[in-house]
Amino acid sequence: DTIGASLDRAVAAWPEREALVDVPSGRRWTYARFGASVDELASALMASGVAKGDRVGIWAVNCPEWVLVQYATARIGAIMVNINPAYRTHEVEYVLNQAGVSLLFASVSHKASDYRAMIEQVRGRCSELREVVHFGDPSWEALLARGGSEARYPELSCDDPINIQYTSGTTGFPKGATLSHHNILNNGYFVGESIAYSEQDRVCVPVPFYHCFGMVMGNLAATSHGACIVIPAPSFDPKATLDAVQQERCTSLYGVPTMFIAELNLPGFAAYDLSSLRTGIMAGSPCPVEVMKRVVAEMHMAEVSICYGMTETSPVSLQTRRDDDLEHRTGTVGRVLPHIEVKIVDPATGVTQPRGTEGELCTRGYSVMLGYWNEPEKTAEAIDAGRWMHTGDLAVMREDGYVEIVGRIKDMIIRGGENIYPREIEEFLYAHPGIQDVQVVGIPHGHYGEEVLACVIARDPAAPPTLEDLRAFCEGQLAHYKIPSRLQILDSFPMTVSGKVRKVELRERFSEGQR
Ligand code: ATP
Ligand code: MG
Repeated sequence: DTIGASLDRAVAAWPEREALVDVPSGRRWTYARFGASVDELASALMASGVAKGDRVGIWAVNCPEWVLVQYATARIGAIMVNINPAYRTHEVEYVLNQAGVSLLFASVSHKASDYRAMIEQVRGRCSELREVVHFGDPSWEALLARGGSEARYPELSCDDPINIQYTSGTTGFPKGATLSHHNILNNGYFVGESIAYSEQDRVCVPVPFYHCFGMVMGNLAATSHGACIVIPAPSFDPKATLDAVQQERCTSLYGVPTMFIAELNLPGFAAYDLSSLRTGIMAGSPCPVEVMKRVVAEMHMAEVSICYGMTETSPVSLQTRRDDDLEHRTGTVGRVLPHIEVKIVDPATGVTQPRGTEGELCTRGYSVMLGYWNEPEKTAEAIDAGRWMHTGDLAVMREDGYVEIVGRIKDMIIRGGENIYPREIEEFLYAHPGIQDVQVVGIPHGHYGEEVLACVIARDPAAPPTLEDLRAFCEGQLAHYKIPSRLQILDSFPMTVSGKVRKVELRERFSEGQR
């Protein structure tokens, strides 16, 4: 199906139920009104000369207009290009030109970001950019005023490209994954199925819409089941999130593990009435057991689900189920979703590994992207002739079909021929009393090829642990070749906006003069 057809069905089935609530502004849309607002915007876009296949950029923090643009562009077959709201002039200029954006939607401003001023700086260098529309200023009203009531939408196919989403840029420069109706609508639908969404559900989405977690696992999962999207704030804020859950009686709450940790540790947390919650999704990085226990017990989220995915696969391919025990919801990322295949292969030979043996995770099915936008060589490196997506993640499939993620291939350290997985050492070092946070990376070494560097944020910055402390802590507990031979104390780690540490940057920073 197309996203427009799916929305029409929801409007027909639940016209009076709420589709979208913006808590900061108090604005609300029933499905009937939401459908009409999407049509109004779609016809205004067509009247502005946006045709099927044209690229429409969106560079904005979360707001209801973001959601309207998502559905209106899909309705007319335009390709929405998600742009990270944290980007600055150099990055936005690259994306606008790389994707050939002709019309750009943007926030006016948010915290220290003045989007209008930044666009003025780059506009002259973006030859294809014809028009910029800001949410909540007169340019938005002017655009809507162009729409007519009887727009004739173009013929669409489910396999048309309608979205370019950039990867997080954890391992290098972000790549633009081109996705179809079929890719993301089906994925949203099946993610919603696994957590049993219905028109009774109200889904609190504090994660960014620009990333697949928000726009697919949030928006598309909700509307394909008649559920309501609740926007707690323009960008993540633990208090606004809990306020929204309580006021709007949300049944589902999303976040990366660090967001749940911030909510649980908020002063006044215990006074919130979160009894309306039953489920939610935690994804993006591994969740510590203690945090998961508190989410289940203190946030009322008995059915919270873990997802594994990547932008290139729409995103989700593995997910835990409602009745999985805690061990499976912290030790694994669940089982494969319907209509998706997974296999674990030896990265060197491509041979499928037996269960219990580690290798590269590969996925195949409707969820695999059409390709990277205008980068056929990179697409060919990622998707093989059999249409298998090579994820770059190392994983093990247990006998019971549940999959454990071991780490990224690019992060693996090879020291003197021994393979070392940073995550194993990091988990061990977390238990050291002087360490608040730790990242382990490999840096070049003349004799061993690579050596192990621990980057540490000290619990007490005035008395950080020494390399000797760390080595003594690991001695006898870890194999000698895994014990860090170098230590760097840092105040913070370089992060992506989706909340991941950029190990590649740590590696570069501390590799100088090592060769
Ligand atoms: P880039 O591809 O630009 O380096 P990225 O891979 O971080 O960035 P995303 O597509 O946002 O960009 O993230 C997908 C990756 O996130 C996966 O390949 C995997 O490494 C990691 N990941 C996702 N979900 C989980 C999870 N539940 N547990 C562990 N890792 C996860
Ligand atoms: Mg990636």
